[in-house]
Amino acid sequence: MSLSKSNDDSNREVLDSNSDTNEEDKNELCPGFKDVDAFVKHGFGVVLSATKASAGLPQPGDEFDFYRSFPGFQEFCESQGDQILQCMSQIMQHHGCRSHVKDRNKLTAVEERFDLVVDSNDVILERAGILLDEADGVNRNQKPVMPAGFQPPKIVVSSWNRKGSGSSSQSETFRLLHAKNIARPQLKFKEKIDNSNTPFVPKIFIKPNAVKPLPSCKKHVCQPEDLDVPAALADLIHQQRTQEHVEDMFAHPYQYELDHLTVPDSLLSKPEPQMYKPIAETKLSFIDSLEDLVELNEKLCKLSEFAVDLEHHSYRSFLGLTCLMQISTRDEDFIIDTLELRSEMYILNEAFTDPTIVKVFHGADSDIEWLQRDFGLYVVNLFDTHQGSRALHLARNSLDHLLRHFCNVDSDKRYQLADWRIRPLPNEMVQYARTDTHYLLYIYDCVRAQLLDSNHGQPGLLQSVWNKSKDISLTKYMKPLFTEDSYLEVLRKQKRSFNTQQLTAFRLLFAWRDKLARQEDESTGYTLPIHMMIKISEELPKEPQGIIACCNPVPPLVRQQVNELHLLVQQAREMPLLKVRRNWRQHWHVGTVFTSLKTSKVLVLQLINLFETLVDYFNQCFVLKEPDVHTEQNSLSVAQMKARRIIESFENPFRMVGNVKSLTFTILYLCFGRLIMLLIPVFTFHRCACQQECQESAKSTAKKRETPASEVGEVTPKPAKKLKAAEKTQKTETPSQTSFKPFDYSQSDLKVFAGTKSKDNSQFDPNRQGQGFKKKVPQGQKKHNSAGNRSMSYMAGKSERGFRHNWPKR
Ligand code: AMP
Ligand code: MN
Ligand code: ZN
Repeated sequence: MSLSKSNDDSNREVLDSNSDTNEEDKNELCPGFKDVDAFVKHGFGVVLSATKASAGLPQPGDEFDFYRSFPGFQEFCESQGDQILQCMSQIMQHHGCRSHVKDRNKLTAVEERFDLVVDSNDVILERAGILLDEADGVNRNQKPVMPAGFQPPKIVVSSWNRKGSGSSSQSETFRLLHAKNIARPQLKFKEKIDNSNTPFVPKIFIKPNAVKPLPSCKKHVCQPEDLDVPAALADLIHQQRTQEHVEDMFAHPYQYELDHLTVPDSLLSKPEPQMYKPIAETKLSFIDSLEDLVELNEKLCKLSEFAVDLEHHSYRSFLGLTCLMQISTRDEDFIIDTLELRSEMYILNEAFTDPTIVKVFHGADSDIEWLQRDFGLYVVNLFDTHQGSRALHLARNSLDHLLRHFCNVDSDKRYQLADWRIRPLPNEMVQYARTDTHYLLYIYDCVRAQLLDSNHGQPGLLQSVWNKSKDISLTKYMKPLFTEDSYLEVLRKQKRSFNTQQLTAFRLLFAWRDKLARQEDESTGYTLPIHMMIKISEELPKEPQGIIACCNPVPPLVRQQVNELHLLVQQAREMPLLKVRRNWRQHWHVGTVFTSLKTSKVLVLQLINLFETLVDYFNQCFVLKEPDVHTEQNSLSVAQMKARRIIESFENPFRMVGNVKSLTFTILYLCFGRLIMLLIPVFTFHRCACQQECQESAKSTAKKRETPASEVGEVTPKPAKKLKAAEKTQKTETPSQTSFKPFDYSQSDLKVFAGTKSKDNSQFDPNRQGQGFKKKVPQGQKKHNSAGNRSMSYMAGKSERGFRHNWPKR
């Protein structure tokens, strides 16, 4: 077990200086343990072994099925399972949570239990938070209202900030614990951070070691805004330029070089591991001036390999900040203050993209992204020891494990999550950071040697690690982009059932949070944690004070904007209250929700209203003209054609409206395609699962086309009639639950259901790029497609910072 370090004494001192609890209290708190630390230590040990044991269980799938074929195993599983559930149930009861996890009878048992566990975790963590704050002397009822950007003088006080090896470090540790008012490093940045809701554009303007030069658009110093031309023309120039180069603009600047990178034979043959120098005999340089950085770069350019690591901070910044870069050569260690040298770091590209120099990282996935995001740095010729460790099937793939395994060094990862913005850096943190790269070149040697040995001297396995490393260096940084559907991604993970009001509240709060976090350059987690957002949405407090009561502790920005939040909650309360089936979240598509509501007349009325609004809107902003159906038909994808056929096969409400009757469905579909798709299930049109139905639809459409006279000149019917028509279509359709397949609504615009008209184009929406109504429709459609893919640096699911990283095992 890795909890071998003995620092009880120092920890106790820190604790003692922190709280007024006396020895007796502690004994009462943790019967059978000397003090809280001993208890915690024991607890960690137990949790660690439990985690280990669970990792050793047969994997779900074939392995598990195989084991399960043995009755002994089955029995054992069941008895152990019962015990574990019993135990969980007790813990939950202890905390006053719902706790029928033991209930084995229900079909939905696993999912229900999972919900219970999530709920209970929330409650328990919340309580832990409150108690920690109380112990820390925080009085929640007397917090001042803070202006935007004000730093509340409180940092997260957690065990990883504590360290106690040797008495000399005591004062440092103590200072670290209470390091208040860390200045926002962002304030000193020469280049302002771009939190706008636009895709990330690589920050590279000089490309050392280029085989293929940078795209010309990157080198245009002269922006159209600078030209002395009318605004409209500048706009056109700008558009043309960006369209011409849009692919290049967002591409990985070293894609070509990496695609053509080959590993030389010398790096595929067995190395003689070169022992690291003892730390005490190694020179350490702290780099915080341009001069030193240039000198370091020159030094690195002469080497054949060096090791790199980064330290990062993500709580008090929207996108996150790279705070430190550690570099180790065979002889020296360097620590670069990347907050200070942020705008100059790009000069290291000369060494970092030199294909003849190997850059060794451990678990480089995030580092590669951070380098691009903050400095415009890229890595050509990467070796990731984490990938090496995985290929070797070592017991664990974390850096601590490699350090112990190859170097017999007991590292201490507790600083990993420290606040790396602190300056000057306390000595312990410097030492910690240094350890992350100091031994890495030796580990690189050992891993390569073992990869060859374990593969009978054949380079295949080693080659695969080089390839995996290259793939990692090809990763492109994606900025978290907010879309109208982002909140659904988050909610889906939460597994809550919300009614329409709660759903609206969550959506509005989510948008508020994203906007404010970008504006204030804070993480979304700092602005308003998800569990609080859920609580507010669930409770829909009538008073601003109720919102405050949902948050504990109250995030400063919530306190400051509580009235705005209250307005949002009020807005949500004005939504018609509709209940939602509990298992909707299994599909979690709005379509499904609305299918479940199809008998609701209110809803049908609302929809008819919506159609009418749309038609008005349509008339206002669209030049009525018949498009060339044939060319457009050609540009439709199979899925779009299919959707169109389905739509055309049904009586559609648009046809009843005089002004629009001459428009073909092509325009309607293309312009409101997403909306119409969304509405299909409401009018009980299910996805055309079988070919037959589809063909029938096509046939009936063809028939209708043959008799166009009946469609032309129809008078707008009264709403009542429309309602009837809608009801009729509902009755004709009785979907069997088993054959029902939820429609793919991921492309749907949900905003329309909240009564918000989708007119607001001021907010950037990557899905909407180039989709202006006046544009030639098929083109707009194509652009829409390409806007969602990787070439636009856009990934919808990435909007939840802090939760979006799957941390690799280090
Ligand atoms: P490392 O490469 O282990 O030094 O980690 C680099 C940075 O990644 C740290 O400074 C942290 O900001 C972040 N980090 C590493 N592990 C975790 C984790 N488990 N959870 C959150 N952040 C992490
Ligand atoms: Mn790292
Ligand atoms: Zn590190």
